[in-house]
Amino acid sequence: MERWQRALSESIASLSELARYIPIDPKLLGPVVARYPLRITRYYLSLIRERDDPIGRQCIPDRCELEQDDLSIDPLNEGGLTPVPGLIHRYPDRAVLLVSSVCPTLCRFCTRKNRTGEDGSLINQNSLEAALEYIERRPAIRDVILSGGDPLLLTDNELEKILIRLRKIPHLEILRLHTRAPVTLPDRITSRLCRILKRYHPLYVNTQFNHPLEITPESTKSCAMLADAGIPLGNQTVLLKGVNDDPGMMKQLMQKLLTIRVRPYYIHQMDLVKGTGHFRTPVQKGLTIMAGLRGHTSGMATPSYVIDLPGGKGKVALLPEDVRRQGQTFFLRNYLGEITEYADSKEE
Ligand SMILES: *Cc1c(COP(=O)(O)O)cnc(C)c1O
Ligand code: SF4
Repeated sequence: MERWQRALSESIASLSELARYIPIDPKLLGPVVARYPLRITRYYLSLIRERDDPIGRQCIPDRCELEQDDLSIDPLNEGGLTPVPGLIHRYPDRAVLLVSSVCPTLCRFCTRKNRTGEDGSLINQNSLEAALEYIERRPAIRDVILSGGDPLLLTDNELEKILIRLRKIPHLEILRLHTRAPVTLPDRITSRLCRILKRYHPLYVNTQFNHPLEITPESTKSCAMLADAGIPLGNQTVLLKGVNDDPGMMKQLMQKLLTIRVRPYYIHQMDLVKGTGHFRTPVQKGLTIMAGLRGHTSGMATPSYVIDLPGGKGKVALLPEDVRRQGQTFFLRNYLGEITEYADSKEE
């Protein structure tokens, strides 16, 4: 067993175990975990200072997850954009391949929290082959994103098999790998993994740092190893109420990411996913954060603020000056030129 596999097997997956470290009431949270499983790596747990701090809020189960909301289990219609199991194809030139249904630490705000582990969502040998054949038959696809769950929970050999197969498809120009392992399980970034990944360039890694406290000596080292393997690193921050919905702190996060060679790519507005309403901020908050970045720090530290439109209409980038709104309703133009009305949540 490799070191990271041991670390993973020692991660916290029950409330009784979590209660040994964090003051929680396992009885009260039992129904939450029955619905949405718990998993926290010991490393990520070690970053928590208080239960409700920005790290704790991301991974400790909360009663709010069971609140009756009118939110969807699949707001982005990923199910409807799935031509073969494990593949999401929304845009003509790029597709997402879901190669794993588990993550080292389960984020309470996860967009796919209602669907991971669900029948058909997990790719197996047969459906992987079908997904690869689908990509093979579509020369318009030039960019494949390995996602999940976390693709880095595959073993090196499993991952390399997929990369070999993808690289045999001549029209695939770039590969992307979306992983939170540098943030929640930095041990996963081994020199062997980096040696493998660098054989399949151009390969990009996008990770997800949500708070400056996640930039530690360990996560810094994992990013340095990837960057030294020639992998351009990007970051997709999720805008989360009570975690990072503060312009000053967000600026600090973006600037610190550049110091560890990670380029801020997106700030995501929370998707309208069932069980995550307590993390949602008004769109105005994101616009204020962008106004605090643009021109106030380098363009390198300024990502795009994006909303993934409900119904699978695609991501749109928002700038404070070009947003059309009427009261609580935004009118957003997507990549097809369609205008979608988007209802903002109420101001706090
Ligand atoms: C976000 C997303 C992509 C990638 O979009 P980029 O803006 O190119 O990063 C591709 N497919 C789906 C379904 C997505 O949600
Ligand atoms: S790392 Fe991503 S896929 Fe995994 S639980 Fe967190 S948000 Fe969801």
